[in-house]
Amino acid sequence: MMKPIKMVDLKGQYDRIKDEIDGVIREVVESTAFINGPAVGRFQKNLEAYLGVKHVIPCANGTDALQIAMMAAGLKPGDEVITVSFTFVSTVEVIALLGLKPVLVDVMPDTFNMDTGAVKKAITPHTRAIVPVHLFGQCVDMEPLMQIAREHDLIVIEDACQAIGADYRFSDQTVRKAGTIGDIGAVSFFPSKNLGAYGDGGALFTNSDELAHQMRGIVNHGMFTRYYYDYIGVNSRLDSIQAGILDVKLRYLDGYARSRQQAADYYDRGLRGDPTIKIPYRAPYSSHVFHQYTLQIEGADRNALQQFLKQKGIPAMIYYPVPLHLQKAYVETGCREGVLPVTEALCHKVLSLPMHTELDHEQQDYIIASIHEYLNTN
Ligand SMILES: *Cc1c(COP(=O)(O)O)cnc(C)c1O
Repeated sequence: MMKPIKMVDLKGQYDRIKDEIDGVIREVVESTAFINGPAVGRFQKNLEAYLGVKHVIPCANGTDALQIAMMAAGLKPGDEVITVSFTFVSTVEVIALLGLKPVLVDVMPDTFNMDTGAVKKAITPHTRAIVPVHLFGQCVDMEPLMQIAREHDLIVIEDACQAIGADYRFSDQTVRKAGTIGDIGAVSFFPSKNLGAYGDGGALFTNSDELAHQMRGIVNHGMFTRYYYDYIGVNSRLDSIQAGILDVKLRYLDGYARSRQQAADYYDRGLRGDPTIKIPYRAPYSSHVFHQYTLQIEGADRNALQQFLKQKGIPAMIYYPVPLHLQKAYVETGCREGVLPVTEALCHKVLSLPMHTELDHEQQDYIIASIHEYLNTN
């Protein structure tokens, strides 16, 4: 009998590494070093080596990572930060929270990622930073973006929450990991992310000693010597149990990415060629770690297809149904309907299929057949 289909299967993944995971959890509990224990330092070093980056600063979640990056970058109220509207809310939320001005630009219709041409046009004398989001597991085209940033002396903070482990290839064939190309990278270890903890977690990446020092301070109240505060900080630490779990899972991360890529290839083969479906585009300059496998449905009723699949026991999700510039909380970004046409169109077309490390062909065959069944009869 076919295993029930889930959007994300964290239990199946845990069962495969149960002994190792249970072992590290027990170790931390026995040691009672719950905060800043040795597991945190170990994970930090191993992640630095994996990414080829000088500094990893663990923190409590991806949203905090983005906020801490902007605090360390010395952005001041009123400074303009260019980012996208087609993203998870955190990216724009922290900009607004710090009193900065989010300037939202459109994305490319094939990659769903930031349109660098639009970034260029959005630059004003008040622009201080750019926040590219590597959406769904594929890198933004960073080479032209970094060039624009250098020309205008702008800070680049990569939101790599969905793309840990993805490789970006420069035209000289240099390869860098997502989150290690700009001045600072931010990632999330939310359980459903590609490197997921068993609770919240996040981290910052940088090659700058100065930014690393500031961020290490900020995550812990701006404190280096107990009860002496050098910066205004926050309380945002990765706890030792999560660090221990992540350190185990880091060893499997490339294998997890391969499982996701194989599942994506299998979907591609089953769905390619139908004129109402656009399968995910793979950019030549980036690997794709398939945090999501996202179709564009054109000329068929996307919402009805989602309902049809649901009735057949197949969860499929819409990331994201409403762009941030059309959300009540963010009307003050000044972006009205029609201003970001690609973003708005995508919100009506996208449909993400179940994607995780435990999918099997029987499940995928059933998902693919069900999609064809709907499209052939509607
Ligand atoms: C998940 C995510 C975040 C936030 O991460 P949390 O750990 O949930 O705070 C930010 N940006 C993007 C693009 C994300 O996908």
